[in-house]
Amino acid sequence: MRRNIMLGRKEDLSDNPKQRWKNMLLLAIGQKKMFKKPIPAFLHLAVYAGFIIINIEMMEIILDGVFGMHRLFAPMLGGFYSFLIGCFEVLAAMVLIGCVIFFIRRNILKVHRLNMKELNGWPREDANLILCTEIVLMSFFLIMNTADLSLQTRGLEHYFKTEPFWVTQNFTWLFNDASTGFLIGLERSCWWLHILGVFFFLNYLPYSKHFHVLMAFPNAYYSRLVAQGSVKNMPEIQKEVLYMMEPDKTPATTTEPEHKRFGAKDVTDLSWKNLLDAYSCTECGRCTDACPANQTGKKLSPRKIMMDTRDRLEEIGKNIDANGTFKDDGKSLLNDYITIEELRACTTCQACVEACPVTIEPLDIIMQLRRNLIMEDSNAPQEWNMMFGNIENNMAPWKFSPDDRDAWVNG
Ligand code: SF4
Ligand code: SF4
Repeated sequence: MRRNIMLGRKEDLSDNPKQRWKNMLLLAIGQKKMFKKPIPAFLHLAVYAGFIIINIEMMEIILDGVFGMHRLFAPMLGGFYSFLIGCFEVLAAMVLIGCVIFFIRRNILKVHRLNMKELNGWPREDANLILCTEIVLMSFFLIMNTADLSLQTRGLEHYFKTEPFWVTQNFTWLFNDASTGFLIGLERSCWWLHILGVFFFLNYLPYSKHFHVLMAFPNAYYSRLVAQGSVKNMPEIQKEVLYMMEPDKTPATTTEPEHKRFGAKDVTDLSWKNLLDAYSCTECGRCTDACPANQTGKKLSPRKIMMDTRDRLEEIGKNIDANGTFKDDGKSLLNDYITIEELRACTTCQACVEACPVTIEPLDIIMQLRRNLIMEDSNAPQEWNMMFGNIENNMAPWKFSPDDRDAWVNG
């Protein structure tokens, strides 16, 4: 993934580290932008906190397996151990409940932004697989503890007593009539299934949109610190404009541009930050939900822009893996993935950028593709071309000579 991301153009985003760390704390850890929609934000925070913190318990589960022990840390930590496990159980229950609600919102209530057509096929399966895996993993963890507590009350040596756990102590009655052999089998099975599930999940993570749990951190750190809405200049064009408007300010020396293309046609013309954005997208659809073009029935979906960018980047990565270096496949992000119709529908309103919880900028990609379309292919609607021609010749969008500019005051 790093190799793929570094295929992008250079962009220096190392300034102001203090502000960058602050952004990472607020946006990635604090999930500040999520709270524009408080209910999903709270559920997401619960799932996220549980997902991260429960990994501390995973350490014990793994060490128990490696050394053939059972609850390795319990004798060392005493009552504090029960407190910790109680907290983990509450978190596990929150993850479980949160994921069930997310599954219902996605598949039964069919929340609009989670059921748009760009999610058909693999993206929808991926989202459901993640939710189901988390539900199953948390269930195994809680069932394992319930069986363990039941065995503790029967005085088995291996299952020495810890204090009752906060969640599962309420469910031990379920196993009152179960045999000791069954309970040991259940406890061991859940241990194995839980740990195998975790290893599966770890391997699956980089292939899934769920990878945003990691990518959100660098993405928030490297988010652009310029004022939202400011448009990046193209130095080569700016020079021409200065030459026309203020010749004395035109730079004297000309340095050969590193990248000889106006805007972007393929992912390798985009900046590395655009590509990092593409790997960080969680496909939540908040950008598309806020997009006025999408709301009014246009073909544009900023989420699809990010998904297309990632798909094309993956395709190029596989091409390099297979051939050692990139072998021209005759395709490009523009046209083969993102159509002209989508690009032209964008009003550059920034609503997508504002809505994104992980500071992704679909608009920046749209702008770069559109610049290429217009500046290299002269591909613009007739009305735009007339305006461009006027700006070029008259330095104004209208077809009047600059010499006549003050004519309106006459009379
Ligand atoms: S900037 Fe373009 S893509 Fe983003 S919300 Fe506005 S119209 Fe939609
Ligand atoms: S770009 Fe941001 S808001 Fe849009 S789908 Fe991706 S993560 Fe969600």
